[in-house]
Amino acid sequence: MMTPYVILAVVLIIALYFIFRKKSIPLSSVPAFADSDRELLLNHVAYYQKLDATNREKFELLLTDFLSGVRIEGVGITIEALDRLLVASSAIIPVFGFKHWKYQNLSSVLLYPDTFNKDFQFEGGDRSILGMVGTGYMNGQMILSRSALRQGFSMGADKENTAIHEFVHLLDKSDGATDGIPENLMPHQYIIPWVKMIHEEISKIEKGKSDINPYAITNEAEFFAVVSEYFFEKPEQFKEKHPSLYQILCSTFSQDLATGL
Ligand SMILES: [Zn+2]
Repeated sequence: MMTPYVILAVVLIIALYFIFRKKSIPLSSVPAFADSDRELLLNHVAYYQKLDATNREKFELLLTDFLSGVRIEGVGITIEALDRLLVASSAIIPVFGFKHWKYQNLSSVLLYPDTFNKDFQFEGGDRSILGMVGTGYMNGQMILSRSALRQGFSMGADKENTAIHEFVHLLDKSDGATDGIPENLMPHQYIIPWVKMIHEEISKIEKGKSDINPYAITNEAEFFAVVSEYFFEKPEQFKEKHPSLYQILCSTFSQDLATGL
């Protein structure tokens, strides 16, 4: 017959065993970021490839943090690990130079198989939208075409990246207005020159004298999102062809990719 003391002693021994066993596991053996995910980033995200070891680790932590707070859902498709990593990379690339950044007002990213229309239909004709930041009843949601997401990160891709474009709209929106003037990010003294540059460049695009995607002439917000794609996708080329725009975007995003900072 077991006395209460014996039972107590057994419980104590078992408890001590678990306490000390746990302590003996080195922290480094707990994988913070899966090797398979790291492999996917190395193969698909040029921005990550170019980072040094310390910054890669920082990038991974920021991705993990982003994905812990935002749901990535497939509509009519099954989401793969690569899709989640590419969405999170698109979110982190524009804010990587900031000390602290949390995307407010974003709870989920919906991935559609391909283009969709303004009523969020992804089948049938009249579909041309690749991505959008939701407003009204779609507030807090972003919709992206998965094929556009993947195309934006394909090696040898051009100056375009749909997902980065949409996250830049969210940054622009963070001061209350999606107007192409990110007042809480852009140093104050640049705002007037920036507005002037937007209109000068728009008139060059209209005359066919600019290599910036003509979609930029839609309005100031689209201009900011389109040149930001170019800035992150082809920084050296953007700096060479548009040195003034490049300088302002360097200050806005706190990143100077053409010189590797
Ligand atoms: Zn846009």
